[in-house]
Amino acid sequence: MEDAAAVPIKKVPRDERILFMKAAFQQEFGNPPKFIVKVPGRVNLIGEHIDYCGFPVLPMALEQDALIAAGTIREKEINIKNVNYQKYPEYKVALKKFEEIKIEPDVDGKPFWYNYVLCGVKGALEYLDNKFEQGLQILVDGNIPPASGLSSSSALVSASCLTFLHAQKAKITKTDIASLCAVSERYIGTQGGGMDQAIAFLGEKNSAQYITFLPLQVTPVTLPDDAVFVVAHSLAEANKAANNEYNSRVVECRLAAKIIATREEIETGSKMITLSQLQECRDSSLEDMIELVHKLLPEEIYSKSEISSILNISEDALGDLYLTSNTKQLPDFKLKQRALHVYEEALRVENFRKLCSGSNRINDNIISSLGNLMFESHESLKKQYECSHDNLDLLVDLSKKFGVNARLTGAGWGGCIVAICREEEVNAFMDYLTDEFYVKHCNIDRENVPSYLFATAPNDGAVIYQL
Ligand code: ADP
Ligand code: MG
Repeated sequence: MEDAAAVPIKKVPRDERILFMKAAFQQEFGNPPKFIVKVPGRVNLIGEHIDYCGFPVLPMALEQDALIAAGTIREKEINIKNVNYQKYPEYKVALKKFEEIKIEPDVDGKPFWYNYVLCGVKGALEYLDNKFEQGLQILVDGNIPPASGLSSSSALVSASCLTFLHAQKAKITKTDIASLCAVSERYIGTQGGGMDQAIAFLGEKNSAQYITFLPLQVTPVTLPDDAVFVVAHSLAEANKAANNEYNSRVVECRLAAKIIATREEIETGSKMITLSQLQECRDSSLEDMIELVHKLLPEEIYSKSEISSILNISEDALGDLYLTSNTKQLPDFKLKQRALHVYEEALRVENFRKLCSGSNRINDNIISSLGNLMFESHESLKKQYECSHDNLDLLVDLSKKFGVNARLTGAGWGGCIVAICREEEVNAFMDYLTDEFYVKHCNIDRENVPSYLFATAPNDGAVIYQL
């Protein structure tokens, strides 16, 4: 079974970027690399902000990736460099125990780039019970647009974890390393789910993946032959670990689930429960859960003191049990809106998957139906989850004007949209966005647009190239 397999080890392809990396590594470290790891970014087609609530999602791996060239050394240290050394300066640190690896942001609360590498290494060391022989020299080269919802962070964390484990000759399955990396990335400060790392390791050419959690499983989803997915960057970047927006949505979902459980007298003690576990406990349909949210979370806003009194705990206990360090100061929470988005989006994922499955393929309007689900997803992310951005909304509106549906993809607050269109209209659609958004609205030179606007097809997950 594919899931039980380890990351494949292949011969190095004669690829220009890899040749460049080998030469750059030699120049930086004075010796050649031993192996190169490649981990792709991803575009999530539908199922946004629901992986951390335990619900299935439907992404595909991208062609863009994080590459790490690695050499091993006897000294127990890690020397981290980036081909883009001006933006991402080098860093070196001694390694002993995972407990001693400190991952702290800069004075403005923004993570240093190498912290993502340290997240992967920390997770790997924990997995190895701190037993390791080889120190590392690593050179990173990523071409996934950063802070743009295409998961450059998870590609970097996952590539770093894989590099460290491979250098120690450790054995691990793709599914286990995906779960390990999902937990490891939380050292950066965001309470993410497991979608990004799962697709990074378990992606497959020619199909998107329907990913379920606990246990982590992927099922290939064949997309309509004539559908093309186009990614368009809004030109706004949003680093998810630099503020508390991402974590505030995570805790709002936690609190919504906890309050409904309490009001329904479902015994959970002081344990957290996800919105998907809540649905399982009640054995209800997603439609019933949507009704229940309207009934049991009727208010527009819940204050911290209101929530404490509903849960019958002190505000301090509320903070310690359910909030993260960067959300403890929040005075109030939107629970109805967030929970409604999650259950409705989970329903859209199921409908999207059904539309792609054989039995429904007779419908020639499948691309329009998938597109409508994507557009509804965007509307919900904009209005109920409040994680869009003016440029994202403009891109979605322009697409709609052209006759194409789109949604923001990734966490939002900037980053990219993903649009679904028919093969025969893809060139005209991309020309339209080039003129209307990039040239007219953003004053970008036409020749620079391809780095922001591209059509994409599903790609394979991580691979190791042994030199
Ligand atoms: P994304 O949606 O791309 O995952 P995140 O906010 O989660 O956005 O992470 C983006 C951060 O990851 C960047 O700000 C940078 O610190 C780091 N990063 C991504 N790609 C690279 C790269 N090629 N080299 C160095 N750091 C990178
Ligand atoms: Mg990320």
